[in-house]
Amino acid sequence: MLRLMRKYRSPAASLGLILLLTSVVAACNATSSDSLGSAPPSGLSNQVESCALLFPQAKEIPVADYIHALEEKALMVYENQTYSYVSPEGGVAKNGPYATWFFEMFLNDVSTSYPSSFGSFKLGDNLLLAEDYRSYAAEVCSEHSNGVSPRGARIAFEKFMNQFTDWSGHASRWESFPYIETGAEIITAPSPAGLEHYTKYITGAGVVFVGGAAVPDASMLAARESVIYLTSARPEFRSILKENEVRISMFAADDTSVLPEYADEHEPGGFAMGMTDASMTANANWLCYPGNWDGGGNPVIHEMVHTINHVVFEQLNETYFYERVFDLAVKAIEDGVFGTAFSQKLGEGQTQGMSEYVGEYWAMAVEGYIMNRPGFKDTHDTREWIAENDPELLQLIQRYFPSTEWEYCPGYGDHS
Ligand SMILES: [Zn+2]
Repeated sequence: MLRLMRKYRSPAASLGLILLLTSVVAACNATSSDSLGSAPPSGLSNQVESCALLFPQAKEIPVADYIHALEEKALMVYENQTYSYVSPEGGVAKNGPYATWFFEMFLNDVSTSYPSSFGSFKLGDNLLLAEDYRSYAAEVCSEHSNGVSPRGARIAFEKFMNQFTDWSGHASRWESFPYIETGAEIITAPSPAGLEHYTKYITGAGVVFVGGAAVPDASMLAARESVIYLTSARPEFRSILKENEVRISMFAADDTSVLPEYADEHEPGGFAMGMTDASMTANANWLCYPGNWDGGGNPVIHEMVHTINHVVFEQLNETYFYERVFDLAVKAIEDGVFGTAFSQKLGEGQTQGMSEYVGEYWAMAVEGYIMNRPGFKDTHDTREWIAENDPELLQLIQRYFPSTEWEYCPGYGDHS
């Protein structure tokens, strides 16, 4: 049986958001005179100190002009389709180093300009706060100075501009778990406020795994083993996963709505983590481990492959991958090598077309390559199959993922 997990904010859903943002820009331009005038005492600069030291040449811009320009610059990054796949029907499978592009935009922003003094500014239905601007600018300048992950700046930017923050899983709404080295031992979760649901915790390969009381220990150990193997060819991926606070929220229920961060989401298998999400999710009942000899696909491996795209490849500006993967996908689909007879849970108004197939091709193929379990799906189920039928893809997979022997779910053969 073939299972498919989809990232909650799919490429098509993101496109919907772009259209939404476009209309916000239009509405804002029409009503920018509505901006609130609750400015702090005049003479106080909004340029944060760390940025002023780095970029003394930055110019003060009237706040309305500043915010509208920033919104348009963000829209241009969202709409960058350099590496995206656009289907003949107009569907878009987004692909590209958006994290890198956003940070370049942020750095250009804080190094050249800052808004004139304001307390709050009304943009459409949203009230933008000066303190959120200052957090955003401080994150950008600190990340630029220290050479650390751009995630904090992106989260602070979205919080300042009220973008995506109405989604319950936005990282600005949840405190992070600390990263504690546990080895192969589950410990009591050091859960921050609001996340007390999670009582079990384990780490490995730079990733935090958490689960509630219903999640079996054996499923968490198996999930950890699979991520350790998945990242074994490229240990530097683990540092990037860790600095971006990648976490897997495991659940053992019908869908993700049992989790505090995703109470309104009803995804049965799980979904991946984007750069500004609190975590990715995976259904423990769909994993293969002693006592649960599941013969289907593996949502931890599948969604972690998507998560590595969103977090690791985007931060590394991995153009080698972006330049190749969609051409391989289109060729595999046209040649009938990649089966498109799978069903996918799509958002309202979305139709399943070429752009969805292309977006899933990589994650489904790597999932099969790692599991290497004959017959668990129609195509790309084993390394041998991929080598015979999609050899160029095999090369791309082995650039990033291990080619050493590994036995997925030891003991499965005796119980299937
Ligand atoms: Zn997927």
